[in-house]
Amino acid sequence: MVQQLAGKVAYVTGGASGIGKAIADLYAQQGAKVVIADLKQEAAEAAAQDIASKGGTAMGLAVDVTQEDQVDASVEAAVKAYGGIDILVSNAGIQIVKPVQDFTLQEWQKMLAIQLDGAFLTTRACIKHMYAQGRGGSIIYTGSVHSKEASKLKAPYVTAKHGLEGLAKVVAKEGGPQGVRANVICPGYVRTPLVDKQIPEQAKELGISEADVIKNVMLKDTVDGEFTTVDDVARVALFFAAFPTNALTGQSMIVSHGWFME
Ligand code: NAD
Repeated sequence: MVQQLAGKVAYVTGGASGIGKAIADLYAQQGAKVVIADLKQEAAEAAAQDIASKGGTAMGLAVDVTQEDQVDASVEAAVKAYGGIDILVSNAGIQIVKPVQDFTLQEWQKMLAIQLDGAFLTTRACIKHMYAQGRGGSIIYTGSVHSKEASKLKAPYVTAKHGLEGLAKVVAKEGGPQGVRANVICPGYVRTPLVDKQIPEQAKELGISEADVIKNVMLKDTVDGEFTTVDDVARVALFFAAFPTNALTGQSMIVSHGWFME
């Protein structure tokens, strides 16, 4: 089997769980050396160990993506260990659900810090190496259908996810001449810890049952009432990472069982 990412090095934030873990796994299967950068050190190391046990190459690093020094140091460590950076997946994220008037400034800033500061800091740290290496690169942001569309209870999340599309377009324009591409993946709802936590929270805020949150909120606008899976998102992340030319850049791709058709 031809490995689509043989010889590449990927740095995946939030790679210890959910979508990021599935992307890290698939990239490793496809021959990439993978750096799993996650707030949770034990989980990052366990995810790397899991990849190693299947014959892949990975390391887990404790990184808070909102902290400049931690991001810079971890990217340097990755470059030192694996000889460069070819792919960044800026994926770490959280969710907080409540009506806009109930958010504290601290909650608002925390969301924007993880989603947007984290994307900026990891982009800045990785793109310098991509430019210096002179072999291009692929930067992938995990956006959301909420990069396109609003839902109640998600003011900072929707704001941040829209912001990622702006960042990706700028990075695509700046990186283009040097073969660095930037794209956004926009998943619909995926059953990860992030979503499992918000089902009861949304039920409480909306005054409906958890079953109704799933059926009438999360999957309401899909074509078949199905959740997107982590593997579905990982397939799109592989497509973006492995795309062989500069033609595919500055784009965002929705993977959502048809929720929100542009
Ligand atoms: P998850 O909770 O399973 O994984 C998120 C990971 O990010 C965790 O391992 C967590 O430790 C890590 N993380 C959180 N804060 C961090 C920080 N400051 N620094 C480093 N790592 C940090 O969630 P998930 O559903 O896999 O979410 C991954 C991304 O996908 C997020 O950006 C999320 O917004 C996005 N997304 C998720 C869905 C969904 O339905 N699950 C849909 C669209 C987009």
